[in-house]
Amino acid sequence: MAVRTRFAPSPTGYLHVGGARTALFCWLYARRHGGRFILRIEDTDRERSTQGAVEGILDGLRWLGLDWDEGPCYQSERMARYGEAVESLLASGSAYRCYCSKERLDRVRAEQLARREKPRYDGHCRGRDEDRAPPGAEPPVIRFRTPHDGETVIDDLVRGRVVIRNDELDDLVIVRADGTPTYNFSVVVDDLDMAVTHVIRGDDHVNNTPRQIHILRALGGEVPAYAHVPMILGRDGQRLSKRHGAVSVTTFRDDGYLPEAMLNHLARLGWSHGDQEIFSREELVELFDIRDVNRGAASFDTEKLDWLNRHYVKASGAKRLGGELEDHLTRLGVTAGEVDRGPAPTAVAEALRERAATLREMAKASVYFYRDFDDYEPAASRKHLRPVAYTPLAKLRAVLADLAPWDAPGIADAVDAVAAEAGIGLGKLGQPLRVAVTGRGVSPPFDATLALVGRERTLARLDRALDFIRARAAS
Ligand code: GLU
Repeated sequence: MAVRTRFAPSPTGYLHVGGARTALFCWLYARRHGGRFILRIEDTDRERSTQGAVEGILDGLRWLGLDWDEGPCYQSERMARYGEAVESLLASGSAYRCYCSKERLDRVRAEQLARREKPRYDGHCRGRDEDRAPPGAEPPVIRFRTPHDGETVIDDLVRGRVVIRNDELDDLVIVRADGTPTYNFSVVVDDLDMAVTHVIRGDDHVNNTPRQIHILRALGGEVPAYAHVPMILGRDGQRLSKRHGAVSVTTFRDDGYLPEAMLNHLARLGWSHGDQEIFSREELVELFDIRDVNRGAASFDTEKLDWLNRHYVKASGAKRLGGELEDHLTRLGVTAGEVDRGPAPTAVAEALRERAATLREMAKASVYFYRDFDDYEPAASRKHLRPVAYTPLAKLRAVLADLAPWDAPGIADAVDAVAAEAGIGLGKLGQPLRVAVTGRGVSPPFDATLALVGRERTLARLDRALDFIRARAAS
């Protein structure tokens, strides 16, 4: 039987890390087995679902390269089908109308709690004659007639065997009084119609599973395999939430992570293959098995993600990295015109690729290639733009003005020669030069940096640094 998995987000918020990991596991399992990955948008909650959230989710999946084979299909477009399914359950006696008022349900609940019982529907309408609505009753809800005897067994691919006594389950509402289906009902109809073979989802749904199995059976469906994946914690051991910083997948993109790094880290949340840390997409498809996912909670570790991102930044092609850098420069407000007048982003990315954990950091560290800076880093200028540096810097400026061609080897030679002539170590000239031209204490090697910054900008910045030192000496 061909594997069919589905990712079924509710579009009430962004695609968060947990959802993305579920989607990845569903996608990997389908790819590994040559199956199909279905995307289903669970938007029956019209109040809380938004088109913006749908787009955010699709955007996040696309960024991660989790392509779907079917869908997106929207539950909101399948209302007629849910109506039809509930009619068949009513006709077969597997569901019934319940007219219990809210007051009655509240009272029953309070009594159960007073007796220290688990609150549950007491089955008041279970035996009612379907043809006779109580006089003056409000529109009813429809409940599923859950079998009371026996037990339900789930051979969960992650959690192992889970056994639930059926008398622990009450008759759940499957259609609300306003006619809308509840989550547990629409999911079952969809999993049935879409012939889903493997339901892979967060373990917050594990309590729904026996209920869904009963409904599925009543509709004449085959029970799929289930895999409930554990939740994700932050490094502090608490459930991952906004408190931990970014939890929306696209925020990681905006923060300068590559999708390969994100995908790699997501895959390792609860799954492993020996000690291997780095996995390409192809390797994941080849090696992933949902049965190897751990039962225990996984933790999301930003340091690990940074480490992975450094790896993928180093491994990226120059053209791709240049494009990414340009994109992040734009996010920082550097204009297209400024980029055009500056060095090629591919060349800048090449100079910086060993240094940055994220593309955003890389972009922040390369703004000076494209735009003059207002201030020096205070510590760097205090330490290096001092009167002793004035004469060598002035001399270097004169040499660089006539340097031909303007390239890194020529610049390196010029700096060497000026330092030797002044009788100072290379660092005594190189550091002031770096601060003068980049405004910062740290940059790629100064010869490569100056080559990229260009002659005109370099000379202007040296003039400015000389002014700065003179003013400092005067004060
Ligand atoms: N829509 C549900 C959610 O976002 C998932 C349902 C499922 O996977 O069965 O939590």
